[in-house]
Amino acid sequence: MKADIVTIFPDFFRGPLDYGITRRAREMGLVQIEIHDLRQFTHDRHRTVDDRPFGGGEGMVLKPEPIFECLETLGLASRDERLRGTTSERVILLSAQGERFTQKIASELAGLDRIVLICGRYEGVDERVAAFLADRELSIGDYVLSGGELGAAVIMEAVTRLLPGAVGNEASTRQESFTAHQTGDELTEGVEVTEKVCPDSTCGSNGLLDYPHYTRPAEFRGMSVPEVLINGNHQQIRRWRRQQALKKTLRNRPDLLESAAINHEDSKFLSEIKRSREKEHVKSHH
Ligand code: SAM
Repeated sequence: MKADIVTIFPDFFRGPLDYGITRRAREMGLVQIEIHDLRQFTHDRHRTVDDRPFGGGEGMVLKPEPIFECLETLGLASRDERLRGTTSERVILLSAQGERFTQKIASELAGLDRIVLICGRYEGVDERVAAFLADRELSIGDYVLSGGELGAAVIMEAVTRLLPGAVGNEASTRQESFTAHQTGDELTEGVEVTEKVCPDSTCGSNGLLDYPHYTRPAEFRGMSVPEVLINGNHQQIRRWRRQQALKKTLRNRPDLLESAAINHEDSKFLSEIKRSREKEHVKSHH
């Protein structure tokens, strides 16, 4: 995959893309990341990339000309072709107003040959970039950052680790939080199916949050690793992990349960937790 990042702070990316899996994937040639300094596409002495907003108001806005000119040097297919999906390239504008970036979008992007990430700054980017140049706007979360650079780094890391060969054990990326890879029908057969889908997996996220992980020592300052993980019964471990994933999802991200692949056994377990929570609630009010 090739990735191009367009920014007014090219040095920003020295750190974030030079460590761990992203670094290794770059060294292995799985991803080639090129950083483009927007100021190189200006024509005035001050290398101006921003200007005051039409209509008045606070702050400055990134001008359209340097961004359009920069992208014109990248040899991309036309926007029409990109939007029709006849080419494996996408141009993305980082924006707090964008569609929320998710693991699902990360895997869509990981299937492309090329992505271009445009980082905004100041009050944002002249809207003509979103309307006529970028194919989609992505936000990394419901908060406002000062620039798109951290967002671009987040997207690059999430996408890179999904590239085949980037993570040593590929099954591990398939069973992480948010990853959906089974249909409800497949799940009707229960946990055994999970084994078929990811042979090395012990659980399979199916759109849930990941289960808790533990390592040595088994006993640490009076805190012990759950017994079930030590007894070597893989059937029990699988069930425990699945239940813990359900429990954590119910507690921290109940919204995910609406679209997660939940089987009959899962639903029963969730109802039990909800019932015992209600009992606790009633007890604490008496
Ligand atoms: N005025 C904009 C608004 O309220 O939506 C915020 C502009 S922000 C200060 C400057 C730039 O940071 C944006 O153009 C965008 O590129 C980036 N940015 C801010 N928050 C972001 C987020 N949640 N996800 C992705 N990019 C973000």
